[in-house]
Amino acid sequence: MESTPPDDCSVKVAVHIRPLIGDERLQGCKDCVTVVSGKPQVQIGSHSFTFDHVYGSCGSPSTDMYEQCAAPLVDGLFQGYNATVLAYGQTGSGKTYTMGTGSGDSSQTGGIVPQVMNSLFTKIETLKDQIEFQIHVSFIEIHKEEVQDLLDPSNNKSDTTSNGKVAHVPGKPPIQIRETSNGVITLAGSTEVSVSTLKEMAACLDQGSISRATGSTNMNNQSSRSHAIFTITVEQMRKINTDSPDNGSLKEEYLCAKLHLVDLAGSERAKRTGSDGMRFKEGVHINKGLLALGNVISALGDEKKRKDGAHVPYRDSKLTRLLQVLFDSLGGNSRTVMIACISPADINAEETLNTLKYANRAR
Ligand code: ADP
Ligand code: MG
Repeated sequence: MESTPPDDCSVKVAVHIRPLIGDERLQGCKDCVTVVSGKPQVQIGSHSFTFDHVYGSCGSPSTDMYEQCAAPLVDGLFQGYNATVLAYGQTGSGKTYTMGTGSGDSSQTGGIVPQVMNSLFTKIETLKDQIEFQIHVSFIEIHKEEVQDLLDPSNNKSDTTSNGKVAHVPGKPPIQIRETSNGVITLAGSTEVSVSTLKEMAACLDQGSISRATGSTNMNNQSSRSHAIFTITVEQMRKINTDSPDNGSLKEEYLCAKLHLVDLAGSERAKRTGSDGMRFKEGVHINKGLLALGNVISALGDEKKRKDGAHVPYRDSKLTRLLQVLFDSLGGNSRTVMIACISPADINAEETLNTLKYANRAR
């Protein structure tokens, strides 16, 4: 196995620009985002931002995205390194498309998650003679600062609404985050499914994607108002032949690493959804999580701050708390890739600029 230790910089930021889509074309939208030729640099109006990678609309082709952003993290899993991939952006910017977690169809193989699953099992196949693997997945959702288990078998009360969309009906009480007196944080009650094949893992992804909470807003009636975290845990037990002459015994080495694949809620401002009451409250909760995430990633990305042991504000939201404490993710022995998804359409220019600023700060 090739050895790729985590790079000095534990946060990488990529931008994925989708093409103009049907609706935008019908409205006669113009493309307002340009990529500087040969550079990972994006321009909008008078603003210019440089990232680690830019994909789509004359940046690198999106097909490079998996190899550059996710494949190194999958390799790292086998060496015991935790990792997180986050898709950020306004509703309709292509987060779900980028992650490949559209409801119930993991056969849509172009996205990050299906490719991760594929290469994970391909690798396991080549190693399984020397190493014993145990793979688990969990799939949770953070909605209005509450954590829901998308793989809970007793929670599968899906309803089909009049428009044919499957709506999630919360069943059991939300998962609790508990802190013991000695400061250990646990997640009470999330389902960990043991899987041994690609097909089994894909079935979990499909099941969870279908039960993910959706709500309609003016912007996009399929818009997801929640953060979804699909976690793959890879446990390895390998027998190592210790070569010492007096003690030629077999030593066992145990490694465990987690990869979190996160499809974040839409980053648009609550006012743009033109909604009020409940929906507005959701907007506030969602933005709180995204704001806290931005602060955490910004603190992690700042090498100097990290070395000085500066405060990383994980505790400010459920999202960051979960990512940090429950999964040993974000920071430490871990790599983070954020993929900021943007629409090129001029009507979305304001949100696109917000997304680029957020992503730029994370870098
Ligand atoms: P989000 O999850 O951010 O709300 P989606 O992933 O649902 O956005 O994408 C919105 C629409 O744009 C979908 O119809 C999707 O198929 C399309 N789309 C997104 N990204 C791309 C892309 N890179 N190429 C082509 N179509 C895309
Ligand atoms: Mg989505």
